[in-house]
Amino acid sequence: MSTPSNLAHFLEKEEIVVFSAVGIDELEAPDRSDVITFLPGAQSVIVLARSPDPGVFSLPREEETRAMVRIATDLDRAAHRLAEELRREGFNAMTVPFLIPVREHEGRISGLVNLKHIAAAGGLGSRGKSTLLISPQYGNRLVLSGVVSSMRVPAGIHPEAADPCGSCDRCIRSCPGNAIDARGVDPFRCLNVRRHIPGPLIRPVRWLLRRRLLQQLLAPVAPFFLRFSTLRCSRCVTVCPYFTVEKAGE
Ligand code: SF4
Ligand code: SF4
Repeated sequence: MSTPSNLAHFLEKEEIVVFSAVGIDELEAPDRSDVITFLPGAQSVIVLARSPDPGVFSLPREEETRAMVRIATDLDRAAHRLAEELRREGFNAMTVPFLIPVREHEGRISGLVNLKHIAAAGGLGSRGKSTLLISPQYGNRLVLSGVVSSMRVPAGIHPEAADPCGSCDRCIRSCPGNAIDARGVDPFRCLNVRRHIPGPLIRPVRWLLRRRLLQQLLAPVAPFFLRFSTLRCSRCVTVCPYFTVEKAGE
């Protein structure tokens, strides 16, 4: 695994062709600090990605949700197998949590390790106004998982990330929850979250988001609740001009 070709070979067997191994020194200071807090001694983050077919977003809501959950779950399992393999080879390795723990900062929610930032640093794309990762090759549909490890990786050569949006603001104008602004997405306004967290529950949930230990205890049961969830909206994905980028990412 300690060579790029070994890693590519392992991920090919997992049917993952979109990935980036990002060295700790390639990260912006806040992301570097998050990664080292997550795993002291970390030297790299390997981001794994898959891009669902655009047709998934035209399915009935239940089917769309099941398809997206399946992709995310498969990626999470691949990340776990990669972490196990790295540990077998003597490295420290941890997967980035699938659902929780997450954290809240100034009203916005992100993972303990921000995979979209790291994927962008690793050349997989750049973040749009919708906060989605936008890849010139794979569009705006990439689903991500990640493994933080003590394995060193060679520095990548990545083109300067360009602003993918320019004067476009379709996602902002189309969002039925008015959840997107210059600071990103307000999760408590997004229809997919609002359905599960009505107004009176927002304060208790914010309280929970500040309790990492409690979230860690809840993490094993969180995927169970996904079985009962249904996506209400994916408009910020489908209105984006990058939605039609068709190259298969699997
Ligand atoms: S999923 Fe829908 S409600 Fe949520 S941020 Fe996107 S457009 Fe807005
Ligand atoms: S819809 Fe437009 S503004 Fe929103 S992420 Fe896509 S390109 Fe950027």
